[in-house]
Amino acid sequence: AKEHGKGRTVLFDASLREAILIRSRLERDLNPALEAGDIFLVYQPILSLPDGRLAGFEALVRWRHPDLGFVSPAQFIPIAEETGQILPLGRHVLERAVDQLAGWRRLAGGDALTVNVNLSARQMLDERHVDDMLAFLADGRAEGLKIEVTESMIVTDHDQARAILERFHALGVALCMDDFGTGYSSLSQLSRLPFDVLKIDKSFISALGTDPRQESLLRGIVELAHRIGLEVVAEGIETEAEREVVTRVGCDYAQGYLFARPLSVADAEALLSAAGPI
Ligand code: C2E
Ligand code: CA
Ligand code: CA
Ligand code: CA
Repeated sequence: AKEHGKGRTVLFDASLREAILIRSRLERDLNPALEAGDIFLVYQPILSLPDGRLAGFEALVRWRHPDLGFVSPAQFIPIAEETGQILPLGRHVLERAVDQLAGWRRLAGGDALTVNVNLSARQMLDERHVDDMLAFLADGRAEGLKIEVTESMIVTDHDQARAILERFHALGVALCMDDFGTGYSSLSQLSRLPFDVLKIDKSFISALGTDPRQESLLRGIVELAHRIGLEVVAEGIETEAEREVVTRVGCDYAQGYLFARPLSVADAEALLSAAGPI
């Protein structure tokens, strides 16, 4: 028994040590990766309902590490947030997405196109970083841009959050509440903040198949959201059945693997020039 216990300890130590090593490796390699171009964006289509036309894209960051292969943003974004590297990374993401959007809007039929960019709470609550982003977005660069924030940005201080969100609004940037339904924020809280769009989290969508009350709940959320002037995006649509439900309850937009995975710039462009319903 003693031996067994010892063996487990060694195993645990080994995997823990490995996790720590990978973490410090990612931390160390992130800034050089930005310079080397190993960090880039992919674009997942957002479709309007019920017609299925392409309305825009969500920009999602990717890291192709020379030794570790693809590293998920779910792994490196939290590290970047802790170390503060999210500031240069976030600036890079915003710049690339906005340049891409401007290019696409100049293409035939692209003039109404929008691109969503995720901003972490750490970015939104850093005053100098916000000044820097707003300075970059001035001069009409914000046209068609939407930003997505999660409720961690609004939970600490509503007044501060509102002031920052309003500065983006003043430049014409649309504001999306991301991952709605996963946390504690309510529509009544959101009605006091200048949001334009509510994104229903994919965990809420996947629950549609398991509990018949979930559809009524979603219908209620969509109706209330519309009443307070928010458009609604359903995320994580993977099946025809989910598409039917979110269309039936009145969601304005949908996003998910059923329609398209996040796409390379070339594939996004091919889709743009095809321009029919997906
Ligand atoms: P998110 O903002 O909620 O982004 C949606 C995630 O769901 C993406 O994962 C997307 O690839 C995935 N997804 C889309 N459709 C489906 C579907 O039908 N089924 C399933 N199961 N998943 C779907 P991804 O790209 O791995 O990003 C994970 C998270 O990392 C994002 O969640 C976001 O929180 C964060 N992230 C990604 N890019 C950025 C960025 O540029 N800045 C910041 N701050 N965070 C980012
Ligand atoms: Ca998002
Ligand atoms: Ca989301
Ligand atoms: Ca998320």
